[in-house]
Amino acid sequence: MFAQVIVDVAHSQVDKIFEYSCPDDLKTGSRVKVPFGNRVIDGFVIGVSRTSVFPPEKIKPVAEIYDESPALVPECFSLMERISRRYRVPKAASLRLFIPSEMRLGRVHESFRRFAVYVTADVKISKAAKKQTEALAYLKEKGEEDFAALCEKFGRGAINSLAEKGALKIEKRKIVRSPFKGLPEDYSGKILTPAQQSALESIEKTDKRVNLIHGVTGSGKTEIYLSVIAREIARGRSAIFLVPEISLTPQMLSQLRARFGGAAAILHSGLSSGERFDEWWRLRSGEAKIAIGARSAVFAPLENIGAIIIDEEHDSSYFSETAPRYSTFDVALMRAEYNGAKLILGSATPSVESYAQAADGKFNLITLEERINGKPLPEIIIADMRKEVRRGNNTAFSSALREELDAALSAGNQAIIFLNRRGYSRTVLCRDCGYTAKCENCDVTLTYHSEENCLKCHYCGAKYRMLSACPDCGGKHILYNGTGTQRVVSDLKSMFPAARILRMDNDTVTGKDGHYKILKQFSDRQADILVGTQMIAKGHDFPSVTLVGILDADMSLHFSDYRSGERTFQLITQVAGRSGRAGEAGKVVLQTCSPDDYILRYAVNYDYKGFFGNETAMRKASGYPPYALICRIMVTSEDNAAALEALKGVYTDVGGLRGQRPDKFIFMNKMHSPVKKIQGRHRYQVLMRLTDGELLEKLYDISLKYTSGDTLVYVEENPVNLS
Ligand code: ADP
Ligand code: ZN
Repeated sequence: MFAQVIVDVAHSQVDKIFEYSCPDDLKTGSRVKVPFGNRVIDGFVIGVSRTSVFPPEKIKPVAEIYDESPALVPECFSLMERISRRYRVPKAASLRLFIPSEMRLGRVHESFRRFAVYVTADVKISKAAKKQTEALAYLKEKGEEDFAALCEKFGRGAINSLAEKGALKIEKRKIVRSPFKGLPEDYSGKILTPAQQSALESIEKTDKRVNLIHGVTGSGKTEIYLSVIAREIARGRSAIFLVPEISLTPQMLSQLRARFGGAAAILHSGLSSGERFDEWWRLRSGEAKIAIGARSAVFAPLENIGAIIIDEEHDSSYFSETAPRYSTFDVALMRAEYNGAKLILGSATPSVESYAQAADGKFNLITLEERINGKPLPEIIIADMRKEVRRGNNTAFSSALREELDAALSAGNQAIIFLNRRGYSRTVLCRDCGYTAKCENCDVTLTYHSEENCLKCHYCGAKYRMLSACPDCGGKHILYNGTGTQRVVSDLKSMFPAARILRMDNDTVTGKDGHYKILKQFSDRQADILVGTQMIAKGHDFPSVTLVGILDADMSLHFSDYRSGERTFQLITQVAGRSGRAGEAGKVVLQTCSPDDYILRYAVNYDYKGFFGNETAMRKASGYPPYALICRIMVTSEDNAAALEALKGVYTDVGGLRGQRPDKFIFMNKMHSPVKKIQGRHRYQVLMRLTDGELLEKLYDISLKYTSGDTLVYVEENPVNLS
């Protein structure tokens, strides 16, 4: 037999199919080791055949077969073609997505334990071999025993002789390393509300591939997802449930565990590699039928998929920032089409892109306007921080927030204090009047660059002088960054000495269950106030929280990105959604220096449609997605001259395209990337806005043309991050 193999080298020069001779029972989808040049490397078997077109003396044999059964599901091969074509990556790079990274290169293996199993006492044992007689009697009684333990008791020699005589046999059994250990089970068997029921029916009846559930926070979306999954499992199909990494909350895990038991497998970065490996094989073998995880779980090794769910679909973690730069939605759609599965997106704040599709009738739109418990959404009170400054309050807390905190704590409730943090980007804000500096060409907020002490636009590269005073009001309270979590915790301690405070940010979350531990403490009411960043924004369900304070809503409002309005709206709605989920009505205090901003107005009224209408009108007028495409061709190299050379080539070629099709370009420029160097690599870019995706393929071609040696050239479509 002959095997067609794709070698595990993601390079365009070996992006073809190689042939090796192989044993008759080798199956398509297996991972193998093959001789390649003077090395032996890993490869994927994408087909086997009886005959070969190559002369026999040219064909070498497969060196080793990795797994007993094929690791890759048949669907991989069709997806590999589509992904490689769509994102212009070698086939090996597409196939790698389907295998957990720790499994590649043989770094993790299945874990086995050996057992000694009793067979018969009808064997000859000499009188002198006391140990053998004892061991056999013992094993006859027990039936079986861990091999190592048995050797420990009676000596390895005795056990081996018994095995040779056929008195016992040694069996290798697979041990499953389970990440579920220690989680409580709390399936309460909920009866669906009429709204949930009709959502379920709508998903069943629609002939549209994609469903978008737009449901306010606490409207019971999770229960709908679980019911969809249960239905598909009952039909003998499988399901993928995607959540942003952070939403793998204790409650979510225990709900899934309670409802689906061992049929659910979890794939996320918090697992040990052994656990990940075993969970993955449980899916591949069909023992588990539900894959739950973050972005990469969209590649779960399932067959016959009935539903793919993307929870919190607006979350930016669904875009891969390393090659292949895929969008989870695109891949999920490919898999849904292949399997004839339903694709379900859900959010309280859908992305503008998705909602636009639903509004156009391309997606089946399901709207849930009420919370399960019938409670109103929490009231959002705006605290104008400009007034606080004028009154001489320079702390991070407005008087309104202090009063509400006091009230919540006195009533024995819990509170969440949310701080808005985004690592790299620094914008300037006047604390006296709320002014922010914007680019005159692009209508986005400028970013402060300390090394040049200037403000820059990340969309066109324009530079502006740094402000010493506010151009609008002359005020001198110019703010670069918000307050840190530590400072907030110490302020809280002095205001409320008796309160127990937990802090959750990148500094305090460590280890694989860092999140879990902190959230568990808070949900067990071992603390009164939880202070945190983006990590606490979404997905959590803490029944005793009645107050949420948002310290600096402005920080994302003025994020230097065309999505900043959308992000702010999403963030406020999500964070507010943590308040008043059970029992008492919740409140939210939103602190801001720009209380009149229209985004905040929509958010305060939970007016998604109003926000959407306004946002789409603006994006249409100024040429941003979904009405246009932002495309960045990145050029990076350790060698600055080589990078500049490639940049010149790319710019010339893109310029040529623009000459032919001026109608397709809204804007185009070449420049240093905002962050000029990362890990010793110089970074340049050609940034453009296109009217649609028609020319994308040509742009991918250009990027491949100039990729050589150490110089990397790659395309980013609507990048989440323009640094
Ligand atoms: P969402 O995901 O829309 O924010 P959740 O799914 O977290 O909402 O549901 C909010 C709360 O309502 C949870 O505590 C959940 O257990 C509860 N819940 C959901 N559906 C039902 C139901 N049919 N009956 C009773 N409680 C429900
Ligand atoms: Zn600009």
